[in-house]
Amino acid sequence: MERSTELRKVKRSLWGELNYRLNWIIFGTIGAILLCFIPVLGWFLALGMAFAILYKTFGFRETFLEGSCPACTKLLPVDPKTDVFACPVCHSCIAVREDSLVIIKID
Ligand SMILES: [Zn+2]
Repeated sequence: MERSTELRKVKRSLWGELNYRLNWIIFGTIGAILLCFIPVLGWFLALGMAFAILYKTFGFRETFLEGSCPACTKLLPVDPKTDVFACPVCHSCIAVREDSLVIIKID
């Protein structure tokens, strides 16, 4: 028997998005300034950091995948690059399909 749950695409809430971008600006700027103290290599890294901050601050809202564990219904973040993972709560083996999570029975 195959049990599966729907896989959903979600975005951060407006408040979460604001917090995320503020964190990038504040900690990214601190990081870039600290990198500037390292001669040459640090300057390049700081430049890369500055671009990362701009991209993260003004870029598109990122989309995440999430789904409920088919066994225990715990809501889990899903990495689209993984094929199979174990639920951290009930340790069931879960396969990631195109648009669903499917429980794998091991026996
Ligand atoms: Zn589970």
